[in-house]
Amino acid sequence: MPAIFPPPVLRRALARPFIPPTPRLAIDGYWRAHPLRADRLARALAAASGAPKGWTWRLTKRRNDGLPATFRMPPAPFRERAFALGPGACCICGQPVYRFGWHVDLWNAGANRRAVWHAACVIAWEFWTAPSDFVQVLKRLQARRCGESGKRLLKSAEVDHRLPLYRVWGEHRDTEWPQLLAFWGAPNLQVINRDAHAAKCASEADHRRGRREALSLAGSRG
Ligand SMILES: [Zn+2]
Repeated sequence: MPAIFPPPVLRRALARPFIPPTPRLAIDGYWRAHPLRADRLARALAAASGAPKGWTWRLTKRRNDGLPATFRMPPAPFRERAFALGPGACCICGQPVYRFGWHVDLWNAGANRRAVWHAACVIAWEFWTAPSDFVQVLKRLQARRCGESGKRLLKSAEVDHRLPLYRVWGEHRDTEWPQLLAFWGAPNLQVINRDAHAAKCASEADHRRGRREALSLAGSRG
């Protein structure tokens, strides 16, 4: 055990029935147990970096430039080849990565030249890209009430983006990064019962159909 170690991580590690065998595993376990904190921290770190100059949110069908292929993926400028910072900086938030993937240099050892992810940003990325895996945490956050109807959440309840991601791409594309990331994080996530989810998806489909029709009308006029 290193002489200096983040106190909340140490407290949690020592309270486990099986104490994590390495400092790195203790830190990973800490963030896995606190995905909402990881989500907030990753967005705060990204805010300290800001978007690189000249970056805009773009999608691509090509494989090799690091751009996302779909608007379902959170925009991550530092994962794109053109804006990559290289080892020692986190590819998600752009801030330096220190020992054990920590985000503060508690050891005064400088950036870890082999690391490209914060331990917290690994979990934040999982949370943003696969929020269904965190349904239990989100249910607790809502005191087990459906985000749409307020009724008790059933076992089959599903994770939903309050503002659907196709609308984020369609209507909020120019929101500054990293404020954009909040659409993938806890602020835009809710757990809703399946019937409420089906009703919401149907009204979103109507909304999309309406927009397509309006667009094709505009197109046929001019
Ligand atoms: Zn990071």
